[in-house]
Amino acid sequence: MSHYDLIVIGSGPAGRSAAIQAGKLKRRVLVIDRKDRLGGVSVHTGTIPSKTLRETVLNLSGWRERSFYGRSYRVKEDIDAADLKARLHKTLDYEVDVLEHQFNRNHVDTLHGLARFTGPHEVEAATEAGDVTRLTADRFLIATGTRTHRPDSIPFNGATIVDSDEFLDLATIPRSLTVVGAGVIGVEYATMFSALDVRVTLIEPRDSFLDFIDRTIIHDFTHQIRENGLDLRLGSAIESVEDKGEHVEVSLANGRHVRSEMLLFAAGRMGATARLNLDAAGIETDHRGRIEVDRKTYQTSAPHIYAAGDVIGHPSLASTSIQQGRVAACHALETPTLPESPWFPYGIYSVPEISTCGMSEEEMQDRGIPYEVGVARFRETSRGHIMGLEHGMLKMLFSLKTRRVLGVQIVGEGATELIHIAQAVLNLKGTVDYFVQNTFNYPTLAEAYKIAGLDAFNRMPIPEEYKVGRKGQE
Ligand SMILES: Cc1cc2nc3c(=O)[nH]c(=O)nc-3n(C[C@H](O)[C@H](O)[C@H](O)COP(=O)(O)OP(=O)(O)OC[C@H]3O[C@@H](n4cnc5c(N)ncnc54)[C@H](O)[C@@H]3O)c2cc1C
Repeated sequence: MSHYDLIVIGSGPAGRSAAIQAGKLKRRVLVIDRKDRLGGVSVHTGTIPSKTLRETVLNLSGWRERSFYGRSYRVKEDIDAADLKARLHKTLDYEVDVLEHQFNRNHVDTLHGLARFTGPHEVEAATEAGDVTRLTADRFLIATGTRTHRPDSIPFNGATIVDSDEFLDLATIPRSLTVVGAGVIGVEYATMFSALDVRVTLIEPRDSFLDFIDRTIIHDFTHQIRENGLDLRLGSAIESVEDKGEHVEVSLANGRHVRSEMLLFAAGRMGATARLNLDAAGIETDHRGRIEVDRKTYQTSAPHIYAAGDVIGHPSLASTSIQQGRVAACHALETPTLPESPWFPYGIYSVPEISTCGMSEEEMQDRGIPYEVGVARFRETSRGHIMGLEHGMLKMLFSLKTRRVLGVQIVGEGATELIHIAQAVLNLKGTVDYFVQNTFNYPTLAEAYKIAGLDAFNRMPIPEEYKVGRKGQE
């Protein structure tokens, strides 16, 4: 039986970064994945495919140029499912290729099979063909991620009623689409298909959505997506979903019905732990299959077994999973490393994009922190004029007491890239003065930081030490 220093179960972002870190530390490391292609949900059904699809949609639909050439402008007249898939397959192949190369270079062993614990220090991996390999290790990392939540009340058929994993296999682009669940995944796909001029209805049982985002940004976003033609139905509990053959019918509790050619059910994911036989390792999960860990070391209740990525729950992002995997591997292999920075960004790749870091205005109010707000609209920047941006805004929140930036919220083109400027200032404990003192490239969208910074600065009290007398007046 082979023995390893570290066995990683799952080759998504958390497993991948942990394994490469272990390889760099010259330890014997093995990655087991039940899928024959490495990369996890992130590469095959989640982050990368959805972002590639978005890029394809925006390019082929001519979305970014429509403010100049009109709403009917398209780069390609008849966009079909094959157009969307062509770029998808190329990108995914490239991602897998790079990952395999990284594993090879760092001497990371890989094994295909469904892993389950048979004891605290032992796992077995079984292939569909029935081959079973038994292995032992000093340490383990569970990085099995999540699977889609599929309630029995939804008549999934893999073609017109699908979950977010199946959605990418779509054979044709529907003329109408109902998306159930206005979480990040639902909002991303709904707005993407709306940009393709598909008639999209987005249904959310609750009265609000994306509650962790600043409400000003959500108001702006809601206005934009409705203007783009998306039918957003908040506070709409679902009574039933029926497969009527030529269409799908959703009956709402308020008596209304929504018909469409296709329905995407995007309401929640569950920790992929059911088949790990965690009892044999002495580990428990919560009702959604997630594993509790120490959030500094990523150790589970069995100290030699670690868990990282979506399987431990919030924030369930590829970006944070990468960080967690590396920190977990360092701790497991007794190698000192730097702690994670306190503030990480959220990126929502909807059309338009949203990105935030730090606190929202509502959170500042809840915490009783006196603050000032600085706002900039992209249409106030020269880069915005060049790009023909009619929308987009950046909002920053500063503490009145310390002048420190405590939150940044952006909606609009480039939001997910722009956010990192604010993230750096936040994590380095910078103040409003940074944005006023510094020169930004011109013309750029980053100039919005300067405008928002000045907007707040001009309304904030000027500290005594900043007040210099005019020449000749002491
Ligand atoms: C549609 C969609 C869009 C997303 N967009 C973004 C985004 O834009 N940005 C972002 O940061 N995040 C995004 N995410 C989230 C991101 O994909 C996840 O946070 C990330 O994939 C989690 O990584 P992970 O390492 O936990 O595992 P995963 O990527 O979930 O991979 C887990 C792996 O474990 C394997 N596995 C499971 N059980 C076993 C077992 N018993 N034995 C062996 N192998 C097993 C699976 O086959 C899989 O390969 C998105 C997710 C979805 C679904």
